[in-house]
Amino acid sequence: MTIQFLGAAREVTGSKHLITTAYKTRILLDCGMYQGKGLETDRMNRELGFNPSDIDCLILSHAHIDHSGLIPYIYRQGFRGRVICTPQTRDLCTIMLADSAHIQKQDTEWFNKKMVKQNKRERATPLYSPDDAKHCMHLFRALEYGRDFKIDKHTTLRFTRSGHMLGAAIVNLTIEEPDGKTTKLAFTGDMGRPQNRLIRRDSAFPQCDYLITEATYGDRRHQPDNQAEEQLCRLIHETCVEKGGKLIIPSFSVGRTQELVFVLNNLYNHGLLSHKLKVYVDSPLAVNASRIFSDHLSEMNADVQRVMQNDTDPFGFPTLTYISKAEDSIRLNTDPDPAVIISSSGMLEAGRVKQHVAYHIEDPRCTVLIVGYCTPASLGARIQRPGLKEISIFGVVHPIRAQILKMDGFSGHADFEEMLQYYKCQNTDKVKGIFIVHGEYDAQKAFADKLQQAGYNNITIPEKGQTIEI
Ligand SMILES: [Zn+2]
Repeated sequence: MTIQFLGAAREVTGSKHLITTAYKTRILLDCGMYQGKGLETDRMNRELGFNPSDIDCLILSHAHIDHSGLIPYIYRQGFRGRVICTPQTRDLCTIMLADSAHIQKQDTEWFNKKMVKQNKRERATPLYSPDDAKHCMHLFRALEYGRDFKIDKHTTLRFTRSGHMLGAAIVNLTIEEPDGKTTKLAFTGDMGRPQNRLIRRDSAFPQCDYLITEATYGDRRHQPDNQAEEQLCRLIHETCVEKGGKLIIPSFSVGRTQELVFVLNNLYNHGLLSHKLKVYVDSPLAVNASRIFSDHLSEMNADVQRVMQNDTDPFGFPTLTYISKAEDSIRLNTDPDPAVIISSSGMLEAGRVKQHVAYHIEDPRCTVLIVGYCTPASLGARIQRPGLKEISIFGVVHPIRAQILKMDGFSGHADFEEMLQYYKCQNTDKVKGIFIVHGEYDAQKAFADKLQQAGYNNITIPEKGQTIEI
């Protein structure tokens, strides 16, 4: 059998790996979108490296767009196989793929108008339409964690919890080959932290022969969780109470936003959040996602279950407002009152949060708090550069007077120590090979060294398009 690494190879978006078994079954692991702006990203998304109608089955690790975002695109190109994922991932994909189609529609309309104004001939088209996003959902089949499912006569799939976000799974495949050999392959998707504030995680995954692992934080360690909560509480006090400013937190609408809301909900319940301070979650997607989180409370960890004994809504408290309408979002900027605003996107590349940051970046009373991973070219990463005096947003150069801070205690990804600790469920002698994907190359190289020190052999960092026979 072979594995071809078609995306998230020496980078963090576009997760896509194609397995071809000895019986010629073609299984795609994830079908993620490259994220970023511009024509180069658009080209990368259109060049799949395979023919969609040849794929028998797509196994989806979780719903984040860098893992799922091209499913409507391959549907449009003729893919009609099954998409197998957990029930939670299926529910989240319903809203996330629709949202992605909507964003593309808006972005291309805006771009084309700009081209017309500038008398240029260039035109953009979306990768797919809202209809494609809706219709591809018919291909989805839900598989509960821990159950075995036969993809074909020779291939069995089992999902285990990776703890990264609601519905996220480690994909465990057992593949029989004609010579009687059986190969066990595990694909981590994204690995969560040991104590995700919301989600349960399995303590182990089945022994594998080959492991495809992510390495987003392959070279880094996170600060302890409780420090992140104390730091957030202090920062809210300094920015909103002492200075009367706004605290703006760019955040992925699904996963991290619910985690932040849960933390703020606990601060509110413990009297640590002023009952006069307004908190806004400004994202239509986050509103729907929080509803889906509430529908799957059995997937929440013991902490959430405990909170729920006295508080039936862990994703809502009296001073919290979810904002869907664009006009309400715009109104927030002219509201003089101090507030906490959580809004997407997490890397500050698009979405309403970019407007909020553009509006407040010249106000010394305000703080922009980055809580997640940002690719080096993104606005979220650029704005953090030490000593930076000004930044261009929507083509306007702004002097930076607001405070720009970063906290990694809310990361959805495990750091290298947490991953190594988790991989102790594997017998190193039985693991014949490890493929490192989903990470900047330096982080991947650092993680390869750590894995080697931990006793693993045959570690590869595949290049994009590379095919490896196992
Ligand atoms: Zn993810």
